[in-house]
Amino acid sequence: MNIIIFGPQGSGKGTQADLLAKKYKLYHLSMGDELRAEIKKGSAIGKKVQPIMEKGNLVPNSITNNMLLDISKRKEAKRGIILDGYPRNMEQYEFVKKNIKINAAIELHIPDSESVKRIASRRICPKCGKNYNLIWLKPKKSGHCDIDGAKLTQRNDDMPIEIKNRLKIYHSQTSPIKQKYKKHDVLYVIDGSRSIKTVHKEIVKILDKL
Ligand code: AMP
Repeated sequence: MNIIIFGPQGSGKGTQADLLAKKYKLYHLSMGDELRAEIKKGSAIGKKVQPIMEKGNLVPNSITNNMLLDISKRKEAKRGIILDGYPRNMEQYEFVKKNIKINAAIELHIPDSESVKRIASRRICPKCGKNYNLIWLKPKKSGHCDIDGAKLTQRNDDMPIEIKNRLKIYHSQTSPIKQKYKKHDVLYVIDGSRSIKTVHKEIVKILDKL
């Protein structure tokens, strides 16, 4: 089973994808996390994508498409993949469609105002990459990671100008793919502004029927 989970920044894609990956034993492919891992490693890809990502722009399709191919061959991805943050434009969508069967595309819908509010309260551990939210996923000790105690920071691309740019890209390039999902009868729209638990239950109800 291959599932696409999409929605604007802060809609909870990563959190929901994690829960679903555990429940259905699927591989959680977060394109953003894969790219950040390349930056951390200091690889050639990492060096290329870092300045692009810091501005909140999309990295070249050739990079993300190759990553999908690599990952889809891994044994951890045998039972299927949850695609989080990919495809993000029409060319990536066509590539996905050509290479894997899409069983469901789940949209987590939230208004832009909620997106901005959620992103402003997002924090990340620079050491282990764990995500926090100062509203609903607070660290045990204020400002520090629960796992390694490192001081939490804000992602460069979570700053106001960059987040505005990322939302603009989402609406102009990612959101139009919805029409394709609709046409192929795999689109499910969910109100992402509710609690993590409620949203998860609703997605499970849909996937259990597939
Ligand atoms: P995310 O963690 O999903 O918010 O992604 C962070 C950043 O990674 C994005 O703003 C882009 O710069 C880059 N990125 C993630 N996924 C993709 C993708 N499918 N295509 C191009 N760039 C991407």
